[in-house]
Amino acid sequence: MIDKLCIIGVGLIGSSLSLALKQAGAVAEVVGYGRNRDNLERGRELGVLDRYESSIAAAVNDADVIVVAVPLGAMQQVFAEIASAAPLDALITDVGSAKGSVVQAALAECGDGIGRFVPGHPIAGGEQSGVEAGFATLYQGRRVILTPLPQTDAAASARIEAMWRICGANIEYLDIEHHDKVLAATSHLPHMLAYALVHHLSNLNEHDEIFRYAAGGFRDFTRIASSDPVMWRDVCIANGDALVDLIQQYQGELDRVAMAIKAGDADELLRLFSRAKSQRDLQIGNC
Ligand code: NAD
Repeated sequence: MIDKLCIIGVGLIGSSLSLALKQAGAVAEVVGYGRNRDNLERGRELGVLDRYESSIAAAVNDADVIVVAVPLGAMQQVFAEIASAAPLDALITDVGSAKGSVVQAALAECGDGIGRFVPGHPIAGGEQSGVEAGFATLYQGRRVILTPLPQTDAAASARIEAMWRICGANIEYLDIEHHDKVLAATSHLPHMLAYALVHHLSNLNEHDEIFRYAAGGFRDFTRIASSDPVMWRDVCIANGDALVDLIQQYQGELDRVAMAIKAGDADELLRLFSRAKSQRDLQIGNC
C-alpha cells in the first residue's frame, strides 16, 4: 500500500500507473506535478490525480514513492529539484525509455540518496501522449525492466517491483548497458525507420498520391511515426551510440537488398525474405 504517490510528468505512462494502482486499491493519494496546468486539471477531473501542485517541492512533500515520468531530456533538472525537497525515506523511480542517461543524471543530483533510486522502464505505451491517453490496463501482462545500481537498496527495488506487479506487469532485471543495447534494437531503431520513411516519402513530389494509396502494410509499419517527437528526440540523444551503430548496420542490410535486386538475384532475395519471415513467425507469431 502506498500512502502518497507523487507523479512528476502526468502523461500516458504516469497517468496509466496512477489509474492501475487506484483500480487495485493500492494507493491512498496521488499528487501530480507537471508544466501544463490544463493537463493537470484534466488529470484531476479524470480521477488520475487527487490533487496537483505548482512546484516539485510541494508535490514531493510527505511522498512515499515519487515516479519521474517526464521526457528523458527533463530528467536531470527534475532529479535536482526532488533531491533538495523529498523526504529522506521516499523512494524514487523513473520510467525513461533509456537508462544510461537517466542513471547518470540521478548520480549527479541525488547524492547520498542514490540508494533509494530504482531505475525502471515499462515496456508498454503507444503513440498517444498526455493525461487523456492513460488507461488502467496498460501494464497488464507487459514487462517492466528494472536496472538497479550497485548502490540501490534491495528493499527499495523490492517495493518498486511490488508496485508494478500490482499493475499486472511482469518484472525483469537487466544491467543498464544491456538494457540500452537491447531497447535500441527492439524499440528505438524501429521508430527511426518509421520516422525516416514517412519523412522521406513526404519529400517526394508525388507525396499526396503516395499517402492516398497507402494500404494496411504502410499503416502498420508507420503507426509509430505518430509518436511524440519530443520524447523520441530525447531518446536519440540519450541512447545515441547504441542507436547509431544499429542504423549503420541496417544501412548495410538495405544496401545488400538493393544489390540483390539490381543483380536480379532471385535466390538471394528469397533466402533473405524466407529467413526474415521464419524468424518473425517463430519469435513473434504471424499476426
Ligand atoms: P507524455 O508526453 O504523455 O507525458 C510526459 C509529461 O511530462 C507531459 O505531461 C509533459 O507536460 C510533462 N513534462 C515535460 N517536461 C516536464 C518537466 N520539465 N517537468 C514536469 N513535467 C514535464 O509522455 P509519456 O509517453 O508518458 O512518456 C513519459 C516518459 O516515459 C518518457 O521518459 C518516455 O521515455 C517514457 N516511456 C514512454 C513510453 C511510450 O510508449 N510513450 C513507453 C515507455 C517509457
